[in-house]
Amino acid sequence: MDSAEVSRPVRRRPAHRVPAEFRFRADGFRYAPVGVKRDPDPYLCDVAVVGAGPAGSSAALTLARAGLRVALVDRAVFPRPKTCGGGLLFRTVAWLDLDLGGVVETQCFEAKLRHHRPDLVYSTRRDAPIVSMVMRDRFDAFLLDAATRAGAKLFQGVTVKAVRVEVDGVTVQTTEGDFAASYVIAADGVTSIVARTAGFPDLRNVVPAVEAEISVQPERLQRFAAAARFDFGLVPWGYGWVFPKRDHLSVGVLTTRHGNCNLNEEYRRYLSAVGLEHPLKETKRGYMIPLRPRDDLFAFPRCLLVGDAAGLVDPITAEGISAAVRSGQLAASAIVEAQGVPDAVMAGYRTSLEREFLRDLRAARWLARALYGFPTLRGWMLRRHGQRLSEFVTDVVMGTAHYRDAVLSPGNYLKLLGGRTAPTEPVARPQRPAGADNL
Ligand SMILES: Cc1cc2nc3c(=O)[nH]c(=O)nc-3n(C[C@H](O)[C@H](O)[C@H](O)COP(=O)(O)OP(=O)(O)OC[C@H]3O[C@@H](n4cnc5c(N)ncnc54)[C@H](O)[C@@H]3O)c2cc1C
Repeated sequence: MDSAEVSRPVRRRPAHRVPAEFRFRADGFRYAPVGVKRDPDPYLCDVAVVGAGPAGSSAALTLARAGLRVALVDRAVFPRPKTCGGGLLFRTVAWLDLDLGGVVETQCFEAKLRHHRPDLVYSTRRDAPIVSMVMRDRFDAFLLDAATRAGAKLFQGVTVKAVRVEVDGVTVQTTEGDFAASYVIAADGVTSIVARTAGFPDLRNVVPAVEAEISVQPERLQRFAAAARFDFGLVPWGYGWVFPKRDHLSVGVLTTRHGNCNLNEEYRRYLSAVGLEHPLKETKRGYMIPLRPRDDLFAFPRCLLVGDAAGLVDPITAEGISAAVRSGQLAASAIVEAQGVPDAVMAGYRTSLEREFLRDLRAARWLARALYGFPTLRGWMLRRHGQRLSEFVTDVVMGTAHYRDAVLSPGNYLKLLGGRTAPTEPVARPQRPAGADNL
């Protein structure tokens, strides 16, 4: 990443030396937006974004484009690895609105869902890529690069130790000195130190996942090349996946219930079940996925949680990049649109989250319990409606349907029991974008 600048905050100046116009402003911002009044010191900013994953970089990009002075702080030095399957849903690509051609490894226009015991296989196809596959080191560095090109200042290799939120601003304490900002956006992932030290309650239902990048023989690679594959009925309370990358496969397993199985053993069993045992090369890692927000709390005055730090992962698919990207954008837009007035920022962020995610996440949690908690019911439903349900989840991934459509309409239950129609009305299918063949 050529343009990402390695910066260190200089020691903070005593308060009496901060020019008065940078301290309190009528529009609620403590420090001047870039291009209007420049503060010479890099640690003084409008917004400190902690964490430069998809959530943080998306927030920083939106803020920098709006002309705000943004410090983007991450303990890692980029490009850095991130334990993740790297499956980008169609709706994520649409939200990003960037030319991702350089970082997309493969595109899957087909998704395969296999249910073991009873053995059922369903396949869905769309004209546009259902899932675009990326490697997170390159994808995250690409987003970060977009944010820094837009004007966000990157501080990498800098670990945040705590935040102190006050009436008129926020102090972010790091291993390299303090940052003083009008707002802090916590994009520091599932272990968020910002959320913890700002006083948010703990995340609920943080579950483990194991993922490996494996090299296999060409014929095996070829066998998995066309589709994103999901296997149910093997891992207790969870599923396994195989995602095709350019020259290897990403394979993983997750469970939606903590402590109910040994995931490393489940991973080995899964490899055998799908015929991928004894890979030529394997890099395996485990990490956590937050399947539930923190008591429905996403912001305090001057402190907003986004992405995994907010616990916005889809409880059915455990997919979190789309919510990370979109919540980063929404938090940033709330700050810009409310012109920095803390109560209006909080209300704006909450409203947009509710509209775009929270209603759907509540419905998805309900569906996830039915899907993972009752294998017999799941088998029965899939036998009767497997293709329709697969089409429905694919439409959710494409952004043309919502989980709440399935849960909140009583007619759907009757339809499912009667086996007559799909759980939602037919929706328009997105078309294959121009130039997609070139990727
Ligand atoms: C095994 C596995 C597979 C997955 N597969 C998929 C998938 O295929 N598709 C999908 O959509 N989602 C997937 N997810 C979920 C996805 O990885 C996350 O939801 C997503 O990365 C969240 O993005 P984020 O920006 O909120 O946080 P992160 O990507 O976790 O970024 C947080 C950043 O904060 C930084 N940070 C943390 N603490 C500090 C600190 N104290 N100071 C400074 N910086 C700090 C970190 O270095 C990191 O760069 C998977 C997760 C796992 C575990």
